[in-house]
Amino acid sequence: MAAKIYYNDDADLTVLSEKTVAVIGYGSQGHAHALNLRDSGVDVVVGLSENSSSRAKAEAQGLRVENVADAAAEGDIIMILTPDQVQAEVFTKDIAPHLEEGNALFFAHGFNIRFGYIEAPQGVDVAMVAPKGPGHTVRREFEAGRGVPALVAVEVDASGQAKDIALAYAKGLGATRAGVIETTFTEETESDLFGEQAVLCGGASQLIQYGFETLTEAGYQPEIAYFEVLHELKLIVDLMIEGGIAKQRWSISDTAEYGDYVSGPRVITPEVKENMKAVLADIQDGTFAKRFIEDQAAGGPEFKKLREKGESHPIEATGRELRKLFSWNSDQIDEDYTDGSVAR
Ligand code: NAD
Ligand code: MG
Repeated sequence: MAAKIYYNDDADLTVLSEKTVAVIGYGSQGHAHALNLRDSGVDVVVGLSENSSSRAKAEAQGLRVENVADAAAEGDIIMILTPDQVQAEVFTKDIAPHLEEGNALFFAHGFNIRFGYIEAPQGVDVAMVAPKGPGHTVRREFEAGRGVPALVAVEVDASGQAKDIALAYAKGLGATRAGVIETTFTEETESDLFGEQAVLCGGASQLIQYGFETLTEAGYQPEIAYFEVLHELKLIVDLMIEGGIAKQRWSISDTAEYGDYVSGPRVITPEVKENMKAVLADIQDGTFAKRFIEDQAAGGPEFKKLREKGESHPIEATGRELRKLFSWNSDQIDEDYTDGSVAR
């Protein structure tokens, strides 16, 4: 295997023992980083705006909370975990003025460094620790004694220690219990955006919606369509995670497996791959980043319109009713969802 994987023994938490980590933001990733590091014995301060609704929550969980500027001044390592589209503003206003030589600027996603929205001053390490899972899973797995895998990357190694600090941070998160892979800001950012757009979020959502529409427009009951094209997807994906596409095909019936081979390529045609290449090109040349950031700067008019369109798709109403009636979906899951990463 090409990539080197780092585990607990490859990382030394004592690298952080004289340091304070300032975690800026207390959302999906922020709460998990702050709590896991604290529970790993690291000195943590959370940076939040004065009127942030997360302030009370972080304090109730026993964390020290300061405003962003004070936390940044106190931190030797400043981990920026606000949404990507506000990081540049928060950085310029409240973080950059307090960065000193020997500090480290950390990210959980390379977006702002890769596309040049944030430029760190000389003498400051720039590194990434990016858990490959939602923050709530990062916290839950840590509490269960396990970890979520992560990527680490070093963009600027001013101290000569940046990688050791990143690995120690990853260990504090619990990620080295599962495995940590080294990457670059460019590779992480471009592949992460591509994965979520083409396959995981964009591709899967559109595939499910088209499947639901095809069945319901042909007169099948929406509840049946929901089960067949959405609910069962999780069961199929679980098999893929356990043993690849091969295990999924081994577990399903021969009828399903044969249908997979003959109909999959009819639905997802070679043109889809050409479309994927166009999506990747827009990511690589910054077109996607620019469109996202400009829309956000204008208050997100396109984003809000698209979100509303997605929420009004009939599969959502069908799913909401069905999930109320069935025991396979506990309240916990909907709660996690509403507590999720997208600010509403
Ligand atoms: P989030 O939306 O869940 O939380 C953002 C936090 O920032 C909140 O506490 C919010 O109060 C705070 N915040 C918002 N605006 C602010 C401002 N102007 N000043 C100060 N604080 C502000 O964000 P998230 O999903 O945790 O994402 C944080 C980073 O982690 C991003 O870079 C993201 O790409 C990355 N990441 C997220 C996930 C995920 O699953 N959510 C996974 C890997 C990496
Ligand atoms: Mg991702």
